[in-house]
Amino acid sequence: MALQLELHEVELPLEHPFTIARGTVTKQRSLIAELREEGQSGYGEAPATEYYGASVENVREALEGVRGLVDAQSLATVDPEALLPEWRAALPEDPFALCALDGAACDLWGKLRGEPVHRLWGLEPVDAPKSSYTIGIDTIPVMIDKLKERPDWPIYKIKLGTPRDIEIVETLRGHTDAAFRVDANCGWTADETVMHAPRLAELGVEFIEQPLAPGDEGQEQVFAECALPIIADENCVAEHDVETCAGRYHGVNIKLCKCGGPSIARRMALRAKELGLKVMVGCMTETSVGISAAAQVGPLTDYLDLDGAVLLAEDAANGVRVEQGNIVFPDLPGSGITLL
Ligand code: MG
Repeated sequence: MALQLELHEVELPLEHPFTIARGTVTKQRSLIAELREEGQSGYGEAPATEYYGASVENVREALEGVRGLVDAQSLATVDPEALLPEWRAALPEDPFALCALDGAACDLWGKLRGEPVHRLWGLEPVDAPKSSYTIGIDTIPVMIDKLKERPDWPIYKIKLGTPRDIEIVETLRGHTDAAFRVDANCGWTADETVMHAPRLAELGVEFIEQPLAPGDEGQEQVFAECALPIIADENCVAEHDVETCAGRYHGVNIKLCKCGGPSIARRMALRAKELGLKVMVGCMTETSVGISAAAQVGPLTDYLDLDGAVLLAEDAANGVRVEQGNIVFPDLPGSGITLL
């Protein structure tokens, strides 16, 4: 038996237009890779993400380019990490395509062996922390409405990078006792970050995600002087970035499609822990295909931000669910994914 690759394209409406420091989107396109072997199917996702130059079209083209390679391989006797070096060599510049492929391989691997992926990795669902729910940038009344629509989440991640950031957090604090995290998506300077942090800490903010642009030389100053921990996101993309974030950030936000899938994300989480970094696993706006893959790494993390499928008005799959922040693993093998 050998692997068979099939590609599915989806376009799903968002529940609300979603705005961060860089712009607004109203729908999400994704490419879902399906790998088949021995009558089982595994699924992995590459959500189109403009910031990282990933479109459904270029991910499809990249995966069509490795179809011959994949069709000659099998997961019957090896694990996905054994196939990864060849895939990485064939897709050196395309972590989103690699993510869809490795996500599908991990899901299929577990299904072929009748075990959840996290269990094959020796991880327990009970160790997964709760997920935050993300509130995108909008007018303050709309941001309050978004929070009120999801009242029972234990943690909210607030997108910032506006002229009224402190006012946003102060106002939202009036409506919930939940923990806050903030994500400036590269929208601040070093001085602004150091200046905002004490007030944000008073307002119950646990950490600041990626305040500065990746090349900003102020990161050393922020690391030394900031009153809150700083988590790298846009600065922690590929596997080797974990090393360079040590001593410059307090933690890293690993996302499957930035790094190339669940196998690499797991290695990054293990390496980050060795380096004393806090580990977060986040997501793009993606369906339960991508969320279910990311959740398998969840028990290795300190922080989770896996609300991607919750932000969609329609989903493409059943799998791991995120309910009021709780990561609910289905009692199913693989990553638990079935397409709708
Ligand atoms: Mg972020």
